[in-house]
Amino acid sequence: MTVQEDNHTEEKKSLSFVEQLVEEDLAKGKNGGRIQTRFPPEPNGYLHIGHAKAICMDFGIAEKYNGICNLRFDDTNPSKENNEYVENILNDISWLGFKWENIYYASDYFEKLWDFAVWMIREGHAYIDEQTAEQIAEQKGTPTTPGVASPYRDRPIEESLKLFEQMNTPEAVEGSMVLRAKLDMANSNMHFRDPIIYRIIHIPHHRTGTKWHAYPMYDFAHGQSDYFEGVTHSICTLEFVPHRPLYDHLIDFLKEMDGTSDVMDDNRPRQIEFNRLNLTYTVMSKRKLHALVEEHAVSGWDDPRMPTLCGMRRRGYSPESIRNFIKSIGYTKFDALNDVALLEAAVRDDLNKKACRVSAVLNPVKLVITNYPDGESEEMEAINNPENEADGTHTITFSKNLWIERDDFMEDAPRKFFRMTPGKEVRLKNAYIVKCTGCTKNENGDIIEIQAEYDPQSKSGMEGANRKVKGTLHWVSADHCQQAEVREYDRLFYVENPGADERDFHELLNPDSLHIFKNCYVEEYAANKKPGEYLQFQRIGYFMADPDSSASHLVFNKTVGLKDAWAKVKK
Ligand code: ATP
Ligand code: MG
Repeated sequence: MTVQEDNHTEEKKSLSFVEQLVEEDLAKGKNGGRIQTRFPPEPNGYLHIGHAKAICMDFGIAEKYNGICNLRFDDTNPSKENNEYVENILNDISWLGFKWENIYYASDYFEKLWDFAVWMIREGHAYIDEQTAEQIAEQKGTPTTPGVASPYRDRPIEESLKLFEQMNTPEAVEGSMVLRAKLDMANSNMHFRDPIIYRIIHIPHHRTGTKWHAYPMYDFAHGQSDYFEGVTHSICTLEFVPHRPLYDHLIDFLKEMDGTSDVMDDNRPRQIEFNRLNLTYTVMSKRKLHALVEEHAVSGWDDPRMPTLCGMRRRGYSPESIRNFIKSIGYTKFDALNDVALLEAAVRDDLNKKACRVSAVLNPVKLVITNYPDGESEEMEAINNPENEADGTHTITFSKNLWIERDDFMEDAPRKFFRMTPGKEVRLKNAYIVKCTGCTKNENGDIIEIQAEYDPQSKSGMEGANRKVKGTLHWVSADHCQQAEVREYDRLFYVENPGADERDFHELLNPDSLHIFKNCYVEEYAANKKPGEYLQFQRIGYFMADPDSSASHLVFNKTVGLKDAWAKVKK
């Protein structure tokens, strides 16, 4: 093999299977080299990280092959859709960092779809069935036994045409009739057994109001919309594999109607399926996410424990970390459960580069520097981000009375405790080396104050300040900090795969998924940070101001700890 060939194979190997298929089509000259994808959300909920996987694929393919990706709202079921969802979907896609070419709505095609349905009836490919949904379901058969033909299957075309018109009137009774494609009741693919393609719904549509009363089903809208728009690659998730033959079959009909069946322009969308993203300790089903919101198990769609993009944004995840995570898990043909620890690792990795380092004490105890002058203070320089010099510095005020973490002190410490304990030295980050001299307890024996003496010659950055001390502690000055509430989150569910569990998902909710620290102290500089600004509370983790935060009541969300706390527990 030549070096060149070798490189070529290497490149091929690093392509996802979807990219390989797209490249094959390009090599064959299909669609004149045009690449067009779409992301087709149904506006019946908020986007979650599973959708992000589809978004990265749909937009990624268009970007990589100089094509376009449109957004299409698959809004064919007015009973669950609304504009609030449309707005938030747009916002979330932009936040993730993608730009659509056009925004389309399946509802823009209601007229065209109606005409197609009428053509289907006229050509003897569809009929009105007046049986109940139960009767129709009973006649479907099983994958190994053929279905039973509806008594209405061979009704006159004119009768079906008339009834189809009636279906689309306010007088039509929901469930009284449906339009079915007349395909093959014995086909081993159940989707071919005369699928329902239109049904009656009277709930007003978020865009077309009460104009329509008969609405197309997914299988009679999705592929058709792809075709109308000129989509070349219709990329979706694996559950649509069994729908693909029907998808192709209905496109054949559309091309027959258009008279383009024998045209060699290949103007036909190609459906390609990849595996869904499933995350441990959460659910992706919109039905379940709706239930969590409606039953107030969470504070809303953007609760930081939710797998939604707005929840992750509020929690402090960056769009880059989500995209990197999706890249790392890749696209395959096999469904799997993805470990949320990988997502958290991607978040840490990205926030390490971005977050501004600040000081905050979550579980405070007073530390008095007994030899520091009363009433005095000084400004210490703090580096915003050691990973990025360009982020600069800020100042943190040091004084006699400080807050430190209760866990950072032990009266009788084991030898390897390199934090604060009587007789030992530690460095206070960005400030001085201090030596603990003792502590004060209340009548219950609780430590209420720790005392230490500082070495004025040991200020960070000073010559001769490099004396080796094992521990460095974070702190805030009691007179130069602000009180804050900190919300710490744990897994929303306590079982690894709640989506696949037979028990009711309500029983699987982790009762301790939210822990609120009411009495935290943050340095002044952190108090001014807004939602959207990435923070690292030094030695603790990554944090972000919550939209609930105000000047009089600061609130921060813990995005993720510095290390994987669960990995430790499991060991
Ligand atoms: P439902 O159909 O139950 O309302 P859905 O999750 O399929 O929910 P859609 O709005 O229809 O939601 O999804 C839009 C696109 O996102 C589809 O192409 C779908 O395949 C993709 N998608 C949804 N969930 C995931 C997931 N967990 N992983 C990858 N892609 C997903
Ligand atoms: Mg769907």
